Formats: sequence, structure tokens, C-alpha cells
Amino acid sequence: MQRIIDLRSDTVTHPTPAMREAMYRAEVGDDVMGEDPTVNRLQEMAAERMGKEAALFVASGTMGNLICILAQCGRGDEVIMGDKAHTFLFEAGGPSVLGGVHVRTVRNRDDGTVDPAEVEAAVRPDNVHFPRSRLVVLENTHNRCGGAVLTRAQMDPVVAVARKHNLNAHLDGARIFNAAVALGVDARTLAEPFDTVSFCLSKGLSAPVGSLVCGSREFVREATRLRKVLGGGMRQAGIIAAAGIVALEQMVDRLADDHANARRLAVGLAEMGVFDIRPERVQSNILIFGLATDRFTPQQLVARCAQDGLKFQAIEGGQFRMVTHYGIEREDIDAALGIVRRAVGQLGRA
Ligand SMILES: *Cc1c(COP(=O)(O)O)cnc(C)c1O
Repeated sequence: MQRIIDLRSDTVTHPTPAMREAMYRAEVGDDVMGEDPTVNRLQEMAAERMGKEAALFVASGTMGNLICILAQCGRGDEVIMGDKAHTFLFEAGGPSVLGGVHVRTVRNRDDGTVDPAEVEAAVRPDNVHFPRSRLVVLENTHNRCGGAVLTRAQMDPVVAVARKHNLNAHLDGARIFNAAVALGVDARTLAEPFDTVSFCLSKGLSAPVGSLVCGSREFVREATRLRKVLGGGMRQAGIIAAAGIVALEQMVDRLADDHANARRLAVGLAEMGVFDIRPERVQSNILIFGLATDRFTPQQLVARCAQDGLKFQAIEGGQFRMVTHYGIEREDIDAALGIVRRAVGQLGRA
């Protein structure tokens, strides 16, 4: 059978053998009653890793961000975020669908940051014509900005604007451990300025399911109620939480390998001379790049590579997205480059 190299996302990772073992052995209870010891342990670990008082296990990153927004904004309130934020683009409009929360965007720069001055200008004055500004959301690493890593120096001025105007601040840290590893800091250092932070276990950390939201005890009490409202109260959830514990214990440091592989991939793609790609800009495990030739379309290249066992995505704006992750080895990167090179050669001749 042909080996498939799947670079569509780090969500395609499967649980490790250690995770399956932990799932098999997990002690469980009814988590809606707060009695699942494995979920409780995962939540304590998550709170500790993020430097927050408490944490709550939720079904997905989307549910986590939604709960964080609903806990901090009421109907008619406004949340400010970047125009390339995952929460704005890819979470089905949840804040407005379910919370009556208005989303206001400011421009995301290529490095994943937003301009603090633009955020400040977006904060509404007290006036009956306007929604009430309540919350600012940042994302780190920044998915649609090619896995861009944001430093404290880049995030702090935005959070300072939020504080100045009595707004809360939430971090969509779906890949916060990628950011922490890339910067060589603790995740809690990146989470520190924020009232709430969400992160995913089911991406680069390779767990099958689940995310956590972290913040004050009071926030987590409210988040627990909101999770129930959203139908996310899970019973013997320790079965999946067990994999999350292994993810936090064993899968964080190895993210550095994914970053090295992403850089290697970017360098190889750049050498082909047909892509608009800057390898030095690749900071974590996501590559987003364009096509610098009109001899074929992005869709044609994706389709041709898929025939040879390499999967990746053609996304909006004529761009490609590739993501490295657990299970993708250095040899797979070289094989992937071989497949792309061959496809580019064939399509370029046609
Ligand atoms: C994947 C992702 C999410 C959502 O996570 P799901 O578990 O897929 O719902 C949220 N934010 C960012 C930045 C993501 O990359």
C-alpha cells in the first residue's frame, strides 16, 4: 500500500500507543457530577501549565473559544479580534449564533499581530448607537498567518489597551505549546496577561479529542454551566482525558521536531522557484504560501500530488497550506518534496 503523507493539518494525528494504553486503564466517573478523577487531574494539570486558578475540559477548540466569549460577553456586546482569527473565520459565527455577540475585526498583520492603536480605535465609546466593547481576542500561534508566533512584547501592548478600557482579554492558544516551544518559554508566560486561554490537545499534541479553557475559579464555574448549555457535558470523559494527560506529559517538547521539519520543507519548496514562500518566516509547524507561476493552478498541483500520496490544502487567496506533525518524519519531508518537484515538472511542461 502506498504510504500517505498527510500535511493537511495536525488534527490528523492519531493517539500514540502510550495514549491508547492510558485510555484503556483510565479511572473514570461521571464528569457532569465532577466525579471523573482523570478529567479532574487533566484540568489541574492544564490550570497549572497555564498559570491559572482552574481549567475545564471541553469537546473542541471551537467550543472552548465559544465558551470563553459567552462567559465574558452578553447579548449586544462586542468582541474585537483580528480579521484572520480562527474564531472569526472558522467557528461558524458561534458568538453571534448562540450569544448575540457582535464581532468586530481589526486587520491582522502578516506576523499574526494586530496594531494596538487599531484595537484602541475599535473600542466603542459609551453611546446608545453602539454595541458595548467587552473583550479582545488574540491568537498564538496564529493559524492563518502561517503559524506565526507572538511574543509577549507583541501581545502585551494589545492587552494593555484592553485593560485601559476595562475590556477582558482572551487568548486562543489552540497551539500555545507550539508558540512556547518556538520561543523557548513556558506556556504560562504567554498565557499570563490574559483572563482566559483555550488550548487544543487534538492538534500537534496528538490526543484524539479535546481542548481546555483556563482562567479564574469564577470563570470556570460559569464555563461549566455554559458547557452544559452547549451539550458538552460528557460523562465518563476520563477515557479521552487520559490521552490528554499523556499529551501534556510526553508530546510538548517534540513539537520542536515539527518546527524543524516545517522549516526544511519550506527551504525545499523555495528551491523549486515556483512558489512565493519565505522559509525564514516559518516559525512553527504551519506553512502558508502562494504560487509564483500561472502555468498551473493550486488545485491542479494539490490533485496531482494527492495521486502520488501527498495530501495538503489549497486555501483561499490562491494559497497552499501544509502542516507538520507527529508521525511526519524527516524522510517524509524529503519524500514530500520529491512528489511536489515531480508534479511541478509535469504540470509545468503540460
Ligand atoms: C483548530 C483551531 C481552533 C478550533 O479547534 P477545533 O478543535 O478544531 O474546534 C481554534 N483556534 C485555532 C487557532 C485553531 O487552529
